[in-house]
Amino acid sequence: MSDIADLIGSRFEWMSRDELISWQCEALRRSVAQAAKSRWYAAKFREMGLDPSSIKSVEDIKRLPFTTKEDLRQSYPDGMLTIDREDVIRVHTSSGTTGTPTAILHSRADIDCWAELMARCLAMSGATKADVFQNMSGYGMFTGGLGLHYGAERLGMMVLPAGPGNTARQIKLIRDFHVTCIHATPSYAMHVAERMISEGDDPSSLGLKRAFLGAEPYTEEMRQKLQELYGFKAFNSYGLSEMNGPGVAFECPEQNGMHVWEDAYLVEIVDPDTLEPVEEGEVGELVMTTLRREAMPLIRYRTRDLTCILPGDCPCGRKHRRLARMMGRSDDMLIVRGVNVFPSQIEEVIMRHKWIGGNYLIRLTKAEALDQMTVQVELARSEFDGSVETLRNLRAQLQKELREQVGFNVSVEVLEPGSLPASEGKAKRVVDERA
Ligand code: AMP
Ligand code: ZN
Repeated sequence: MSDIADLIGSRFEWMSRDELISWQCEALRRSVAQAAKSRWYAAKFREMGLDPSSIKSVEDIKRLPFTTKEDLRQSYPDGMLTIDREDVIRVHTSSGTTGTPTAILHSRADIDCWAELMARCLAMSGATKADVFQNMSGYGMFTGGLGLHYGAERLGMMVLPAGPGNTARQIKLIRDFHVTCIHATPSYAMHVAERMISEGDDPSSLGLKRAFLGAEPYTEEMRQKLQELYGFKAFNSYGLSEMNGPGVAFECPEQNGMHVWEDAYLVEIVDPDTLEPVEEGEVGELVMTTLRREAMPLIRYRTRDLTCILPGDCPCGRKHRRLARMMGRSDDMLIVRGVNVFPSQIEEVIMRHKWIGGNYLIRLTKAEALDQMTVQVELARSEFDGSVETLRNLRAQLQKELREQVGFNVSVEVLEPGSLPASEGKAKRVVDERA
């Protein structure tokens, strides 16, 4: 392939709605027929009395079964495989650290398609082969390393497969090789910036133009803070290993919602309790069906991620619909004194305050049978005059805002910079000690 436009799949990128829908109908039929070749789906379809060839259009999706993380665990390692084992060229797993992971097996065509989708994301952000890209994401079973790597190489960027951690080396590599784009979790990008500031350095002096940030939930406020610190444009990147990994949905230069590549993923948003579709624009659980995967197609996979489809067209002209920033996972929701709280609600308030750093931890404890929430933050020394009186007032103000946000009293502990565990990958924001 010589044509760069073809290389990054622009045939799909600029499809009209009509073209997309007609492609989806054809691709869904193919995917369901392919899935039926696996032990798992063959048994499932048989049990339901479903004839795969009766699936003819996107509307028929409702007749197909959901697939859950538990199904993937039960069919681990290859119950959903549809091709000969010798035609599998790669295995990835989800980042869970306990129990049986979920594994996804890929054929050569799958890896190729993933690279194409990823390259399309990067090109959409405005990156070109002239960019130099440092991937600060974990390589190995986690998909953020090789996923971005193959996409960036496909685009032709010079790639530094730095992996996470070793912050001093990250900074040196960025400077030595004139890196223009990075990929990291937002929490690690924040850690690098704060480390530089604490050493009297300035993150904006790195000259980075773009950051691709994802793999964990973060707020618009956190994005703003990172953009101010580094002077780059930060693009939200969403993916999950079950759907390949990164490259599922990504922001365009409008930075307003993530275009989900609908040639490769059929999207539904459902009520997590009833599993019925929600009204357009309403928040629900994202459910996805792979449309271009060969080795291990997944049908109606319940991601557990909560989001909505943004209404209207994007000014960039792409017709792939946009997902709103993830609110978190349905299993991330905290219930504190009977009130539902998402960690992102806390983060939103914290990021508004310049006198505290970007790292935080939510601790839940019990005192006399009553839930207590403590939010631990770190002082940003450079933004603080050192007076105890000021600190007392700032802390009281933060406590008041948190109370307004969640509806109950939250205590705030202000710690020295660098006291909280630093994140290299997905940050752990909650410690629940109530049990
Ligand atoms: P893994 O399969 O281990 O890569 O984890 C995928 C999960 O990470 C997703 O299901 C989301 O919960 C989370 N995630 C990935 N990207 C984002 C993002 N941009 N915003 C919020 N959560 C994300
Ligand atoms: Zn757009």
